[in-house]
Amino acid sequence: MQRDGPVFIGSEIYRGSSYGHWHPLRVPRVSTVMDLTRALGWLGPANYLASPRAKPGALSVWHAPDYVAALERVEATQLGTEEDRERFGLGTHSNPIYPEVYRRPATAAGGSLLAGELLVDGGVVYHPAGGTHHGLPGRANGFCYLNDPVLGILSLRRMGVRRIVYVDIDAHHPDGVELAFDGDPEILMISVHEERRWPFTGHLGDRAGGAAVNLPVPKGLNDSEMALVREALILPLVARFAPEAIVLQCGADAVEEDPLSRLTLSNNAHWEIVAALRPLAPRYLVLGGGGYNPWSVGRLWTGVWAVLNGIEIPDRLEPEGEAVLRALRWEGNSRGKAPPDHWFTTLRDAPRPGPVRDELKERLAVLLRREGLG
Ligand SMILES: [Zn+2]
Repeated sequence: MQRDGPVFIGSEIYRGSSYGHWHPLRVPRVSTVMDLTRALGWLGPANYLASPRAKPGALSVWHAPDYVAALERVEATQLGTEEDRERFGLGTHSNPIYPEVYRRPATAAGGSLLAGELLVDGGVVYHPAGGTHHGLPGRANGFCYLNDPVLGILSLRRMGVRRIVYVDIDAHHPDGVELAFDGDPEILMISVHEERRWPFTGHLGDRAGGAAVNLPVPKGLNDSEMALVREALILPLVARFAPEAIVLQCGADAVEEDPLSRLTLSNNAHWEIVAALRPLAPRYLVLGGGGYNPWSVGRLWTGVWAVLNGIEIPDRLEPEGEAVLRALRWEGNSRGKAPPDHWFTTLRDAPRPGPVRDELKERLAVLLRREGLG
């Protein structure tokens, strides 16, 4: 199936869904992107698909059936046992039992499975609810219950797509995805993530059996540094691999306003990577990921849709768009008390250039030498 232009996969299940009033994922994210892209006239019904909810059988291509059954059960009962917590990671601080604890991740998984099918003949799919890169086969992990990037890649593969690149620019290392494709010669995983941050995997020397290139970056990463990483490392590695599909995990937690990382990018850094990867493969799946400031996530991911559609991002939003951003609330965080006006009136952050530090250059040199690009 080839549509006119990129496809946006969303769902109403994300609207009003919260992990709990104290959890970083209490904030609206995907619903903001749906509302804002529509308010700006950038998303019509022809390019929007409601995500199906994956069936347990479809999840079992990677997830353990007993874990999926536990997830369904704790949603129904809203109660977890000691065993659910110990064995499945369900009912912990990071992975609480909340009202949609099975349906919501199963919907995100269904979206990525669908994306793989939609992309069989080529094209672009945007699935901002995807990107749950910490999910493990039989265990919830790091706010993730299932691993939709893994399922999306397996879906592409089931459609006959062989060489696949996975690029991850979330502030956190994609430990679940790396586990799934360790040693896989037809997958190249590239991750740029903050050093010494949870889950503490993805060291410079970690190669996942030759399938991964990991670049841990120091706190305070700026736009100039990310531009160098993009031009010197990401784009040459992807181009050389000559992928049949690219999956980009475009987590929004590496921007300065995010409460869970110490990286200081502007959203321009993400958008430039989104645009630069597009011509490098005939199939392109762009996922969301982390992002815990409701304004920076909504603005960044709405801008991703603009970039994928070649829409010029206006300097100031139309009143309909501004109204969507003004209606957001961020309870329980000091930055939500008096948000700066540009969080309401713009999508684009001011660029955050800066010095390119020697420690970053040295790590890049190590990787480029090892990968034969230096
Ligand atoms: Zn993250």
